Amino acid sequence: MIKNNIKNIRQRILLATERCQRDPTEVSVLAVSKTKTTTDIKQAIAAGQDFFGENYIQEGVKKIQFLDNPSLTWHFIGSVQSNKIRLVAKYFDWCQSVNSVNCANRLNYQRISFQKPLNILIQININNEPTKSGVSLKELLVLAEHISQLPYLKLRGLMAIPALKETYCRQLKIYQKMSEAFQELQNVYTSVDTLSLGTSHDMEAAIIAGSTMVRIGSAIFGSRGQE
Ligand SMILES: *Cc1c(COP(=O)(O)O)cnc(C)c1O
Repeated sequence: MIKNNIKNIRQRILLATERCQRDPTEVSVLAVSKTKTTTDIKQAIAAGQDFFGENYIQEGVKKIQFLDNPSLTWHFIGSVQSNKIRLVAKYFDWCQSVNSVNCANRLNYQRISFQKPLNILIQININNEPTKSGVSLKELLVLAEHISQLPYLKLRGLMAIPALKETYCRQLKIYQKMSEAFQELQNVYTSVDTLSLGTSHDMEAAIIAGSTMVRIGSAIFGSRGQE
């Protein structure tokens, strides 16, 4: 089933990119494996999937250690608690949820002993929701400039978790705002190449607006039930 689901996701990407005349290879798939087992993840790997996203640090570290597979790329996409920063820097290749100078400084410090810089996406709170993490577009440039100066972090782009209740049209408008901010950032920093936007439920609007990475959980692994 997981294999088929991944095939379906690639088909949806193909159709969405055709609609806006984008090259389908510009959109990568992050398989969001939170709450799912390593058996599920192995099925996805067998279907050719190699980027995985985890939200909960201990759960993620366990899976990374258990699978112990250097050809996989692990993205941390959950909220970064300060007492877990060391684990994010030690085990993950990317952190998509950086939302403050303090968080960036701590990740940089913890990454010093590793060979490769940690890839960073700045999380944007695009609907300015009080319950959601992330910086506003106004705060973005200051944080981006700070991160670009840190030697053990590599600024790769932006991530957002937009509210899903919007209509397709509203969604598209909001996602286009993200895309504009992403392009502005690309004009300043040559390392910026990733706009992480879109989930199982809104990937079409995200791709049409310019997403380069969709984060797909339930449409690959099945529903998670209550979280
Ligand atoms: C869970 C999660 C996803 C995946 O959502 P689905 O609706 O299952 O595709 C994507 N991004 C983040 C940040 C998540 O926490």
